[in-house]
Amino acid sequence: MAPIPGSGLAKGLAVTLRTMTRKPVTAQYPDTQPDLPPRTRGVIGLFEENCTVCMLCARECPDWCIYIDSHKETVPPAAPGGRERSRNVLDRFAIDFSLCMYCGICIEVCPFDALFWSPEFEYAETDIRDLTHERDKLREWMWTVPAPPALDPGAEEPKEVAAARKTADRLAAAQAEQQEES
Ligand code: SF4
Ligand code: SF4
Repeated sequence: MAPIPGSGLAKGLAVTLRTMTRKPVTAQYPDTQPDLPPRTRGVIGLFEENCTVCMLCARECPDWCIYIDSHKETVPPAAPGGRERSRNVLDRFAIDFSLCMYCGICIEVCPFDALFWSPEFEYAETDIRDLTHERDKLREWMWTVPAPPALDPGAEEPKEVAAARKTADRLAAAQAEQQEES
């Protein structure tokens, strides 16, 4: 059967009218900030104090976009008669975000919890070289890393938290003792 003349136009207008009354789904970024989940993969932060320069992240990165330089230093023995030890000292830690594919492998493989996801994503640059973030910049991102999720009720306290509390209690006790004496 031949279509009724003008029915196509009527259908089109009906669709237009229907969508005109609906709430738009397009977010007007940057006027409207996106509502992202807290664990969004935005940028990587480096907690330098935890990094032992084991190089695992740089070796496992599929894009070879983590650059690490270090040198060795000799540390005196912890106790008299002990042996000197050598440790790696970090000279450079950089991530090239123009190559990074945000796979998260570096964060997964780091055995010392030195790398973290931050949800920050507004770091576009006009010069591609500025997308290589050096250690200071990577440290700054650490301030934007969300706190870890709460433990399950009844879960065992992580040993790191217990150790940190013990040290804090000891320091507080020593401080109180000092104040009493003075
Ligand atoms: S997220 Fe993936 S690609 Fe990016 S630095 Fe880490 S391992 Fe490399
Ligand atoms: S894997 Fe972790 S500890 Fe090892 S070099 Fe990378 S950030 Fe540092």
